[in-house]
Amino acid sequence: AKLAGKNRYHLFDAEHDRHLRARNDTLDRLQQALDQQEFVLHYQPKVNLRSGKVVGLEALIRWQHPERGLLAPGVFLPDIEGHALSVALGEWVLTTALAQAQAWATLGLSLAVSVNISAQHLQQPDFVDRLKQCLAEHPEMPHGTLELEVLETTALDEIDAVAAVIRECAAMGVRFALDDFGTGYSSLTYLKRLPAQVLKIDQSFVRDMLDDPEDRAIVEGVLGLARAFGREAVAEGAETAAHCRLLLRVGCDLAQGYGIARPMPADAVLNWVEGWHPDLGWLG
Ligand code: C2E
Ligand code: MG
Ligand code: MG
Ligand code: MG
Repeated sequence: AKLAGKNRYHLFDAEHDRHLRARNDTLDRLQQALDQQEFVLHYQPKVNLRSGKVVGLEALIRWQHPERGLLAPGVFLPDIEGHALSVALGEWVLTTALAQAQAWATLGLSLAVSVNISAQHLQQPDFVDRLKQCLAEHPEMPHGTLELEVLETTALDEIDAVAAVIRECAAMGVRFALDDFGTGYSSLTYLKRLPAQVLKIDQSFVRDMLDDPEDRAIVEGVLGLARAFGREAVAEGAETAAHCRLLLRVGCDLAQGYGIARPMPADAVLNWVEGWHPDLGWLG
């Protein structure tokens, strides 16, 4: 029995080794992708459905893989979670989005740009200092136009530290949004303790609100909370004109979704903004 136990241990050990090696290979490949500039940002417009104005753009990372094509973040971000690479990649995203925003501003397109920030990146002790430095390096980026999106699940035990970061950023004109709001375990605690200016209503609720009264109730509930707490609400996942119409009816003017625009490469944005006009049916 002793021998069998020992063998089992060895088997497990080998399996574990193989697993670790595979993981290291994946991380090496992702580091290489960063070094070789295979990552790109696409941008999804955020609009005011009532006024018809384009109010901002959310930067969303993709991996332009030489063999596998354009990969969505869900395919590779989970592999770097918890690794130093996630901070390096986060800094690349921030710098790239700021450079892009500055380039647009120079062309007269002065829109807010939103950047998704991972928990690990946000928890870096020098996060605020690096951000300040990054903003200083992009002086043409209009003040007050950067927004950082964090998941509600970010820093569950670090809520006071995150609140402090949000306050320091607010003093620098950087706004915060709670992304996928409503899907975490403690949305209400977050809302009360994190002074983020924006709530992004998770797309799952928005997508299904047309035929699911409970999802619609959640959307209306979050809108009510946003009003009561003096926060801005943005709906994610507005997939059709019917979604946009209902959002307006329940008092949600700001939205993002495939029904308005899909995320697009940076060089397609200017044309899209110039050609966009709201569907008047949304208001009717
Ligand atoms: P998110 O920040 O909640 O972004 C919204 C996601 O929903 C995006 O997926 C977007 O393409 C997709 N989407 C937008 N409108 C619609 C719609 O009408 N219907 C549906 N079904 N989907 C819609 P994407 O680009 O695959 O990103 C997924 C998640 O990956 C993001 O969710 C965000 O949490 C994360 N992510 C993306 N880029 C970055 C990044 O640069 N840094 C970090 N840390 N996370 C990122
Ligand atoms: Mg987001
Ligand atoms: Mg979201
Ligand atoms: Mg999400």
